[in-house]
Amino acid sequence: MVRLILFGAPGAGKGTQALVLAQEQQVPHISTGDILRAAVANQTALGLQAKTYLDQGQLVPDDLVIDLIQERLNQPDAQSGWILDGFPRTVTQAQALDGLLKGIGQSCDQVINLEVPEQVLVARMLGRGRRDDNETVIRQRLQEYAQKTAPLIDFYRDRQKLTAIDGNAQIQHVTKAIQQLVQGLDNLAS
Ligand code: AMP
Repeated sequence: MVRLILFGAPGAGKGTQALVLAQEQQVPHISTGDILRAAVANQTALGLQAKTYLDQGQLVPDDLVIDLIQERLNQPDAQSGWILDGFPRTVTQAQALDGLLKGIGQSCDQVINLEVPEQVLVARMLGRGRRDDNETVIRQRLQEYAQKTAPLIDFYRDRQKLTAIDGNAQIQHVTKAIQQLVQGLDNLAS
């Protein structure tokens, strides 16, 4: 059982690593970005509220994502672990997550900070070709990250939950580093 937050700037490789890890650990991969993009595609009420923010590379308002994550973490498949990817992204979200987890008798094991230099992030996102991966929107997303999300590094460091991993390595090497960390957590628990 593992409860991990994959943290990092846009383009750091959170989604790629979360996918591998979730499969290996047999826990759901919960990506707020994926959930929001699906909501936009399906034109749900949430999607209609979120669309402009996604298109402009801005963070969706905290209350929307907090509600979304609360609902998701209460699903039966999330009771024996999860990998969070792209949440939390603000201190308000992190505090809400703490409260939410306390309420259901859970806590997060570790926050993995995938560290990647900014010029590599930009090159990766440009190569990815997602709808919000054009230069103007990328710049906006990096600015949102620096202003609103990066403060979470101190938030989780203060709580002794943060581990930095070099995300500027080959995908398999990053996976290996994360696997070793998770193994260490397992050993601590048993
Ligand atoms: P991602 O796929 O994680 O890069 O997220 C894509 C977009 O979804 C972001 O640029 C935001 O507009 C929105 N988003 C995803 N997760 C969050 C979050 N935790 N808080 C606010 N907005 C989010």
